[in-house]
Amino acid sequence: MSKFIATLAIIVLIICACKVRQPITTPVSVPPAIADNPIGNRSSHTPKNIIFLIGDGMGLTQITLGMMENNNYTSLERYPVIGLHKPTASNKLITDSAAAATAFACGIKTYNGAIGVGPDSMAVKTILEMAEDKSMATGLVATSTIIHATPASFAAHNKYRKNYEEIAADMIDADVDVLIGGGKKYFERRESDNQNLLTALEEKNYYVSDFRENINDLSIDTSKNIAYFTADTDPLQAMMGRDYLLPATKFTLDYLKKKSGDNGFFTMIEGSQIDWGGHANEHDYVVSEYLDFDPVINYAYEWAKADGETLVVITADHETGGLAIQPESTPDSLVTAFTSTYHTGTMIPVFAFGPGSEVFSGIYENTAIFDKMVGVLGME
Ligand code: MG
Ligand code: ZN
Repeated sequence: MSKFIATLAIIVLIICACKVRQPITTPVSVPPAIADNPIGNRSSHTPKNIIFLIGDGMGLTQITLGMMENNNYTSLERYPVIGLHKPTASNKLITDSAAAATAFACGIKTYNGAIGVGPDSMAVKTILEMAEDKSMATGLVATSTIIHATPASFAAHNKYRKNYEEIAADMIDADVDVLIGGGKKYFERRESDNQNLLTALEEKNYYVSDFRENINDLSIDTSKNIAYFTADTDPLQAMMGRDYLLPATKFTLDYLKKKSGDNGFFTMIEGSQIDWGGHANEHDYVVSEYLDFDPVINYAYEWAKADGETLVVITADHETGGLAIQPESTPDSLVTAFTSTYHTGTMIPVFAFGPGSEVFSGIYENTAIFDKMVGVLGME
């Protein structure tokens, strides 16, 4: 009998070894929308508003590290529903922020570098544009430039993420109600043409302002759209004094609630630079950016709880840096290591709270986040 078990064990081992050695010839296969997810995309609880929070590069280790550096607490603990998404692109196993944000915004797998376009470079409608079509109010807030891959993929369509001036021109046509982020120069002092897109924004009924006006002084005048530029190019690191994400979030949620009336709103708010800390392999950069984002996670929860009709969804596009918390770490001295200066392929946690949140439980493709948001809003 034991001989039989030993033989069986060897056979199993051989089978496993063969499986491991199989090369991944087609790295990305996209299953039918919900075939592998029994929970589906529909809920009997329909939210009126969606707050979608993205921590760029915020993998599970970034969350864990931020938590450990914050007396072992993260505001994500308040979120009752947790899932995981598979962060792959159409042409690469390891996604970039553009393909990942396009997956969230449009529900399609596309190639790295794509902004709101499919593998054929053709524009695909985004959830923000669908919300605009339904007369919902919309907002985009980032701690990068506003034309950077993550926010851009919700309101622009371009074959390549670094065509910043083209993306800026495209974004002013999207009629997003609130735009808050850096990158003023791509609108104002352009190299590819002589247009001043700040003037164009004003002609499209935007109140245009920038970092010279204290963000806490912005008035909630919903007769105008808002474009507030936090920097000429990239905003500062949080460690260098950038502190607008929480006040920008407070302003945006109150503005959108007031403006949307009965129609509801969709807003994406990004902690953009957790990713940049990962690329730089800098422990303190990652932690400080995470801790800049955490109060937004907390505020969104409080705001949605008080509102009662708002779904909050929080995730990342991918992990950055292959971050590890090393075995020599102690509670007082966390030792970290990085395996890469780029993104890695680990699955990414998703947190949700509010009406419809239960559909975010489970494991699914990154594109399913679009399917689920659109599904619970009943927008298909
Ligand atoms: Mg980003
Ligand atoms: Zn990155």
